[in-house]
Amino acid sequence: MGLALCRKHGETGIVPDISIDICRDQSGENNNNVNEICIVCVKVFDGGEHLFDQKNYISKNVFDQVGMQFEYVIRSDEDEEKLNAFFPETSGMCAECFKEYISSRNIKLYGGDIARE
Ligand SMILES: [Zn+2]
Repeated sequence: MGLALCRKHGETGIVPDISIDICRDQSGENNNNVNEICIVCVKVFDGGEHLFDQKNYISKNVFDQVGMQFEYVIRSDEDEEKLNAFFPETSGMCAECFKEYISSRNIKLYGGDIARE
């Protein structure tokens, strides 16, 4: 987790991979049109070694538009290029703001191992 400098929360953790339309919605530019968020897990391997899982928060609207899956596996540069070709643009958000946004809008999360801390 990196650090964000939030106007409201000061220096906090950052949730790095949130689809742009969610960020716009959170900042009030998108008229509350996000009600559901899908957690898309990208599993990154190097050879046989599992390096890490990248969790992406993608609005259900975009998820459906693109026809995404909940899980992708990357084993090579080629896999990564293929994924980048259709993967929605993402941005980071202050972790506290993201939490508040999810709970204040009562947004449903799908997929991933949903941990609401
Ligand atoms: Zn914040």
